[in-house]
Amino acid sequence: MPQPAEPAAAVEQFDCPTCEVLAGSTCRTRGGKVASKYHPPRFMLVPQLRAELEVKTPADRGPGRAWEMGPAVDAAVPEAAT
Ligand SMILES: [Zn+2]
Repeated sequence: MPQPAEPAAAVEQFDCPTCEVLAGSTCRTRGGKVASKYHPPRFMLVPQLRAELEVKTPADRGPGRAWEMGPAVDAAVPEAAT
């Protein structure tokens, strides 16, 4: 499997279990802003990123700005946790 060019793009293939945003959107803070990094339960769904301690939201996605839903995409199905 090729390495994703952009970790953030790989993370956004999944819905976030923490803030419940849908695939295609950045993580959201409780205050309704774009989070500065993705929630760990979300990037743990990406096998290549499991060793990471944090995955930052790219600057061009506007961390700290008001959160808006991204374009709808079909969520990838996470591997079953064993
Ligand atoms: Zn999240």
